Amino acid sequence: MYTVFYLKKYSEEGIDITLFEKKNYLLYTPVLHEMATGTVNARHVVIPIREIINPRQIHIRCEEVDRVDLNRKAFETRSGIFTFDYLVLSQGSESNFYSIPGIRENCIPFKGIEDAIRLRNNLVSILEKGAIEEDSRKRKKLLTIIVAGGGCTGVEVVTEIAQFINLILDRDYPEIRRSEVRILLIEAMDKILPSFPRYLSNVATERLKRMGIEILLDSPIQWANEDSIGLKDGTEIPIGILVWAGGVKARDLSLKPEVKRDPSGRIMVNDHLEILGHPGIFAIGDGSHVSHNGDSLPPTASVAVQEARYVAKSLLLQIQEREIPPFQFHYRGDMASLGFMFGVTEVYGWHFKGFIAWILWKLFKLAMLPRYKTRFQIIADWLITLAFRRDTSKLT
Ligand SMILES: Cc1cc2nc3c(=O)[nH]c(=O)nc-3n(C[C@H](O)[C@H](O)[C@H](O)COP(=O)(O)OP(=O)(O)OC[C@H]3O[C@@H](n4cnc5c(N)ncnc54)[C@H](O)[C@@H]3O)c2cc1C
Repeated sequence: MYTVFYLKKYSEEGIDITLFEKKNYLLYTPVLHEMATGTVNARHVVIPIREIINPRQIHIRCEEVDRVDLNRKAFETRSGIFTFDYLVLSQGSESNFYSIPGIRENCIPFKGIEDAIRLRNNLVSILEKGAIEEDSRKRKKLLTIIVAGGGCTGVEVVTEIAQFINLILDRDYPEIRRSEVRILLIEAMDKILPSFPRYLSNVATERLKRMGIEILLDSPIQWANEDSIGLKDGTEIPIGILVWAGGVKARDLSLKPEVKRDPSGRIMVNDHLEILGHPGIFAIGDGSHVSHNGDSLPPTASVAVQEARYVAKSLLLQIQEREIPPFQFHYRGDMASLGFMFGVTEVYGWHFKGFIAWILWKLFKLAMLPRYKTRFQIIADWLITLAFRRDTSKLT
């Protein structure tokens, strides 16, 4: 979407641009955790593509690309075969379950709007069932909520869940005591928010503990079934809900001939973001592996948008047969919201915590939204949840 946006912004007339997208909306993932717990309305995290991109200027085709033939410069969809001069692949990512037995079948991944709706319904379900369950063992299992993965997504989800539980339990479910609800964050590494500076990671750890979240570090999950999960040290923990935020891998997209990929299936590209050996065919976003200071860039929107902008400029330079500088990533910072009025933020090397960081998070997330209408809708949602009770109705 951003590549198309920048192409249109920088280009002269005469370039024929088509966007192939199997969904007809953009999902605004940074507020998905707030949707799952009823702060933000489900309709407000999706934006119709045709409202962001002018369909009179860009061809929009709501269909899935099945196979790409890199040598013939053609790809296939249900409606036929399309040829191109230049191609930008940005198929995104999906949850990576690392072949851990039982995880895929027994978890709620946290990637799409359907996952957030499922999480919300499951949260409400375990509370409804917990409120009437008299067997203490079953009740304990039901009321154990586990989030696996202590990166930004996992930490934001677990704090939102804890806040939701802390706010609604007393008023809406007086049958359940807070001490009966166990909320755990399980991380394979030795700290949460590993991409943040150690100081902010420690601030986040303290904050989560204060919210009543148990944190288990150095605890990779080894297996899962419908009743429990097993950790590396042999501990078995019963599960009411298991949310998987343990990492992503590239979304599958069939390429002919097959190209070099990293262990997460991401397409390897050169420093112009072109697929190795295929000039004029770019791969960007979560589905591509871009080296930076000896490591690969993380799967975040800020990386994807910088890559999109570069590719749009670079493509136009290629058409004009001008020299193209290599892609350079500019790290601007990282931010995470940790429940009501608290966050941790790193902006251009400056560290913030607490209320200021939370406000910066809110302002930045609003600024990144590509539509004014959605900005107002989300601000209204935030204000409404400040003034009124959280909604505990199921969505289906
Ligand atoms: C819960 C959550 C919270 C996040 N929060 C943040 C945040 O706060 N800040 C941040 O920087 N990043 C965040 N991210 C990461 C961010 O969403 C991704 O890095 C970003 O969306 C990647 O962009 P992309 O274009 O590579 O992939 P996507 O945004 O996934 O876009 C890929 C698109 O391609 C379409 N597609 C896939 N295959 C095909 C096909 N074969 N044919 C046609 N269309 C296809 C898909 O429908 C999809 O719309 C978050 C992610 C999640 C899951």
